[in-house]
Amino acid sequence: MGLLEGQTAVVTGAGRGLGRAIALRLAAEGAGVACLSRTAANAERTAQAVRDLGQQAWSRAVDVADPEAVNQAAAAIQQETERTDILVNNAGITRDGLLLRLKESDWNSVLDTNLRSAFLFVKAFTRRFMKQRHGRIVNIGSVVGQIGNPGQINYAASKAGLIGLTKSAARELASRGVTANVVAPGFIATDMTGQLTEDQRSAILERIPLGTLGDPEDIAQTVLFLAGPHARYVTGQVLGVDGGLAM
Ligand code: NDP
Repeated sequence: MGLLEGQTAVVTGAGRGLGRAIALRLAAEGAGVACLSRTAANAERTAQAVRDLGQQAWSRAVDVADPEAVNQAAAAIQQETERTDILVNNAGITRDGLLLRLKESDWNSVLDTNLRSAFLFVKAFTRRFMKQRHGRIVNIGSVVGQIGNPGQINYAASKAGLIGLTKSAARELASRGVTANVVAPGFIATDMTGQLTEDQRSAILERIPLGTLGDPEDIAQTVLFLAGPHARYVTGQVLGVDGGLAM
């Protein structure tokens, strides 16, 4: 028996990278998964992989930076599924630039995609969580939200904002059987970190005590822990998965 038998999860940004690894890990433990991504083909590819694991899957293209699209997607998923146990807000982007050159549009798109989307999804599923008296919210932050990073003022602000959002939701919803936590990855090998130059990569590796980049499965296993029965008594926490980069 899997840890999540009979449960249903919603994962944003499930089309690639960490979101795909998270969706497949939750499915491997018995959960059905609604796979949301900006690109329909990517969402559907992950959904098919979930079905190949023997679980139910739904796929939907949604731009999480568009509030109307988020609300429509959340409503449609709730019509198509009987329950929602787990919400993983994972979709995220970077638009890097040094402070003096960063455009306001790059600030807005990162905050809208990484932070406002999480507020909208949490809000959209809260009534259902409360009714079920069960819900697990896992927001994907970043080590950068805790320690900052030159050239990522917008991204760091969005990820720090997720921590405040998560802790407030944890306090508001605890009495209803709902937990909310942040997973804060360090540098994990995905398309996002694939953009790093060799020089940037070796400079980063020097700062990581465990000496390597992480694997998407490292994040997926941590999300599974927070979404599953062993984390019953864990809420409002930021769990770093970063090879010791921030400590
Ligand atoms: P990738 O760039 O590899 O994948 C991002 C995923 O998010 C894709 O599936 C993409 O959709 C989706 N996405 C992006 N923008 C939108 C949008 N507007 N609407 C809907 N979906 C969207 O990123 P990672 O897997 O590396 O990152 C996942 C999360 O983890 C992000 O929040 C990121 O900030 C965080 N993180 C990653 C780290 C790393 O080292 N990789 C480190 C710290 C945090 P599509 O496939 O359809 O294009």
